[in-house]
Amino acid sequence: MEIAKGLHIVDGIKAPSGISLNPLALFGADGSVHLVDCGFPGQAKITIDYLASVGTAPSKVKSLILTHYDPDHVGSAAEIQRITGCTVMAPEFDERVISGEHFTDDQLRKLFPKYDNAEIAAIQVRLHPDPEYENIKADRVLRGGDVLDTVGETVIYHVPGHTPGLIALYFKDLSCLAAVDSMKLFDGKVGLTKPPMTASPREAVESLGKLRDLNFEILIAYHSPPLMSGGSTALREYLDSQKT
Ligand SMILES: [Zn+2]
Repeated sequence: MEIAKGLHIVDGIKAPSGISLNPLALFGADGSVHLVDCGFPGQAKITIDYLASVGTAPSKVKSLILTHYDPDHVGSAAEIQRITGCTVMAPEFDERVISGEHFTDDQLRKLFPKYDNAEIAAIQVRLHPDPEYENIKADRVLRGGDVLDTVGETVIYHVPGHTPGLIALYFKDLSCLAAVDSMKLFDGKVGLTKPPMTASPREAVESLGKLRDLNFEILIAYHSPPLMSGGSTALREYLDSQKT
């Protein structure tokens, strides 16, 4: 489904519960295709079939941008990479999980001294991937402030909280923010999922504060239908409600 010029949600990639996972296919002006996330293990064919349905060959896929380590986002990455030969990008820390590294609680505490024990436990419980998951090493590590050329200028924001490395993508030319799992839409209102799905709600709210000054209409968030207008207003309303 094309929701803005060149920006598609890849239809048909769903969780067993039936909710949509909202992976994206971005069609650049130069004919290149960039994917953002790719569903669970075994779902690569859904993306390839979607591209075929809009007249695009797998060889056009130049990059796969992974937003964080959860298996519903990275599960088919190795298979997509094999089929298309694309470059794989993933954010700092989460790329280490995606490549198969394991971490003890002590290692996590050293890496993230800002997290308390409950936050470390919430991260740890979600570090064990789907047994079907095939590890993949990213070709490029993404950081907040990076700018990519996909459907025009695409700015990467580091928005930890759900996972330590999570990134959001701001598509300037399309007035669109892919907030991914940094927030959830509840009947069009911004909110958060509960721990352990959001490992650190405190940090998640701080992260959303980084997006406060962006202006955008379309908001794509955590497995919800996209908000097609008023996205940045909805985000600011949520942030205002969190002020004490
Ligand atoms: Zn997630």
